[in-house]
Amino acid sequence: MKKRIIILLILCILVIPINTKAKTLSEYKNELNAKENEYKNKENDIKLNEAEQEKTKGRITEIYVELETAEKEIIDLNNDIARLNEEIGKKDKEIKEIIRYYQISNGESAYLEYLFSAKSITDFIYRATVTEQMSKYNTKLINDMHAMITTNNENIKKVQAKEDSLKSLREELNQKIAALQSAKVTLTEESISLEEEVKAAKEVVDYYKSQGCKDDQDVSSCANKQLPPGTKFWRPVISGYVTSEYGRRVHPITGKVGSFHSGIDLSVYKSCGTTCLTLYSITNGKVVYTGYNSSMGNYIVMNHLVNGKNYSSIYMHMSKIYVNKGDVVNKDTVVGLMGNTGSSTATHLHLTMLSCLYLTDSKCKYPGNTVNPRDYINFPSGLYNDFTNRTNYYN
Ligand SMILES: [Zn+2]
Repeated sequence: MKKRIIILLILCILVIPINTKAKTLSEYKNELNAKENEYKNKENDIKLNEAEQEKTKGRITEIYVELETAEKEIIDLNNDIARLNEEIGKKDKEIKEIIRYYQISNGESAYLEYLFSAKSITDFIYRATVTEQMSKYNTKLINDMHAMITTNNENIKKVQAKEDSLKSLREELNQKIAALQSAKVTLTEESISLEEEVKAAKEVVDYYKSQGCKDDQDVSSCANKQLPPGTKFWRPVISGYVTSEYGRRVHPITGKVGSFHSGIDLSVYKSCGTTCLTLYSITNGKVVYTGYNSSMGNYIVMNHLVNGKNYSSIYMHMSKIYVNKGDVVNKDTVVGLMGNTGSSTATHLHLTMLSCLYLTDSKCKYPGNTVNPRDYINFPSGLYNDFTNRTNYYN
């Protein structure tokens, strides 16, 4: 008995579709609040990023000043060394002269002449003493100056080491600025996306309020009388790429040249699984048809009102349909899964858009009134170029 219940439960879990309905107005309000907070946080992140950039730029400016000071210090120290060397040269010459006198004193007559040309004995002693003292004094001076040169050279090395570390710090900070700048580009893109999401969520809440929905009321029971207005279209999948354009083309199955392709084909990376196969409504709207035929496979038709104009969207080749005729949807409503049903060669979504209310307005014809989805939804240009969310703008 227990076993049977468990099997039944597992079967139930397997067959229960993703719950797309039965949301109350307050749930939508909560979603709006969450998105608003996310947007505020993102804006705050951008401000922090900007402040960090300013701080880093300020430090780099300081480093330039510090490097200039170090450069001056090195010049001063070098000038000092040059002056000391000159001084040493002079003293050296003096010493040599004195030494010459000593050498003379070892037997040659000039020194003796110098000494004995003293006018008196006092003068004689004076001359001898002065000669010796001058020699000693100059030697000491030269030694002192050599010591000063050594100190100066050591100081130059220290200043150069400081320069090197300042330069590497400057390099590091420049890299930091580059990283902050690229982070800011991402943050700004995310912020723009969030701003649009907030706007869309607000539209949904406002629409249900205008329909007289109460906070605890399931919106599907209070708002299905008219089309919910929207202001823009969103990509129907969170990531993927365009595999075929709207317009005339070589038909992939019949091979006929010039056959008309009534929509745009989107595909996703298989490795991403159900997350990427999940199909969302391209904007607010109402489901007007769900069904199957041999060419479109499982398909749905939705009517939309965007910026005061009527549109329809048709999703074809779906593997699963999660909505019913009459359902009110918004851009976050999961309408089904991408598939390979009907006349299709691989898992993809064929998205057709019409500039009128298909199946509601009898004058609205398929494919006569179809339009190029690229004119309404921003996809990366060309085929097989990835998009990785539903909003980022592509040139
Ligand atoms: Zn197609």
